[in-house]
Amino acid sequence: MEESIKFFSTNLKAASLSFKEALLKGQAPDYGLYMPEEIPWLNPREICEFSNLEYYQIAFEVGKRFLRGQIPEEDLLAIVQDAYDFEVPLENVYENKYVMRLDQGPTASFKDFAARMMGRLMQYYLKQENRELLILTATSGDTGSAIANAFYGLDNIKVVVLFPIDEVTPRQRKQMTTLGKNVQIISLDAKFDDCQILVKQAFADPDLDYLKLSSANSINIGRLIPQIMYYFYSFARLRKGNPEDSVIFSIPSGNFGDMMGGMLALRMGLPVRKFIIATNENDEFPKFVNTGNYNKIVPSKNCLSSAMNVGHPSNLARFVSLYDGVMDENGFISQKPDMEQIQNEIYSVSITDGETKNTIKDAHDKYNLLLEPHGSVGWAGLQKFLKENPEYDTPEQLCISLETAHPAKFPEQIREILNLDPELPPSLEGIEEKKESSDSIENNYQAFKNYLKEKY
Ligand SMILES: *Cc1c(COP(=O)(O)O)cnc(C)c1O
Repeated sequence: MEESIKFFSTNLKAASLSFKEALLKGQAPDYGLYMPEEIPWLNPREICEFSNLEYYQIAFEVGKRFLRGQIPEEDLLAIVQDAYDFEVPLENVYENKYVMRLDQGPTASFKDFAARMMGRLMQYYLKQENRELLILTATSGDTGSAIANAFYGLDNIKVVVLFPIDEVTPRQRKQMTTLGKNVQIISLDAKFDDCQILVKQAFADPDLDYLKLSSANSINIGRLIPQIMYYFYSFARLRKGNPEDSVIFSIPSGNFGDMMGGMLALRMGLPVRKFIIATNENDEFPKFVNTGNYNKIVPSKNCLSSAMNVGHPSNLARFVSLYDGVMDENGFISQKPDMEQIQNEIYSVSITDGETKNTIKDAHDKYNLLLEPHGSVGWAGLQKFLKENPEYDTPEQLCISLETAHPAKFPEQIREILNLDPELPPSLEGIEEKKESSDSIENNYQAFKNYLKEKY
């Protein structure tokens, strides 16, 4: 087989690994995150040819370049075909402006894209080696349900999900707590960041080595690669076919895994004219982009777009590394990234809860466009950008705003703002009647550790 791409740690103190090793490990032993040493390049003709392919075929074309030498192509093709058996609607809003709905998977959020492919890849390698893993993950809502559903029922993988009791909606909670089998759900009377801290401590604890812990959070490189594909897909479907075609993406962001998928697509050759990175009131990233100074927000603020309530996004270390800087796991920058290039490629803006609500209302009134709070942050970011930068605001310019969850996941908010009940997607039907089961623990590491040792 061809020589594989190696993956290095953003803290630069751990050995580089193959994709398979990095996937099964999750976080690097020096607390850095894995990034590819080489980013494969697609020439314009190759990208052009994607226009005639199905979603899973594009996923295969992109995936095989990162995973070369790591999995036979026919096995990878079978995995993506199985993982991506749902629609990816591109909804025209006005002119050449679109919303890409990444909400048709089994848990109705874009996290299904990453979780389903990663789960199948892990399963593939574990089977090969006859090994077992315990996946430990913290969630602010959608990750947990996507991971739990993607791994549900697999024999050699067990899953433990920690979630902050007040930060997930009843429907998000039910998507996790109604599963059972190999999936254990734990609630914490704390914030998402606290859950994340417990998970990180467990990974660093040698007493728990015997559990063979692995992460499925967006720190895992296996989550990142599947988030490259829909950028290629949407461009390939919507491009006009001219050599100068370009696209502007707007990405509602919290932990920045979604954005990193887009950034990798850009480095692979996708003609992205600008990324709009829209956050809620947790505005550490827009401030960083605009000033070069990074200050995490502790504790993170509770906003309507709850899956984006992140005050210190772990993927920032990857982002900084892409621009030749070094940021450690605490957010300390020891080598400055190229701020000028960052500002050329990215426009970042923070959207308040008030703006989020107004945008849901406006989009519905003006365009009959139904958005939930996360997608609304993205759409509001795009509107702001176009207003502030009229040179980009032409009817021909292709703009794609990502809708990352289905409106029916947030019925209370939609009802309050629009006075209507969003229709349930098939994946959410019947969930209200299912029986829930979960445990709760105190927000301290010793309690969590004891729980794990007793149970596993
Ligand atoms: C996780 C999530 C986000 C944020 O994605 P990141 O990759 O963490 O930036 C946005 N919207 C929804 C619905 C999510 O579940």
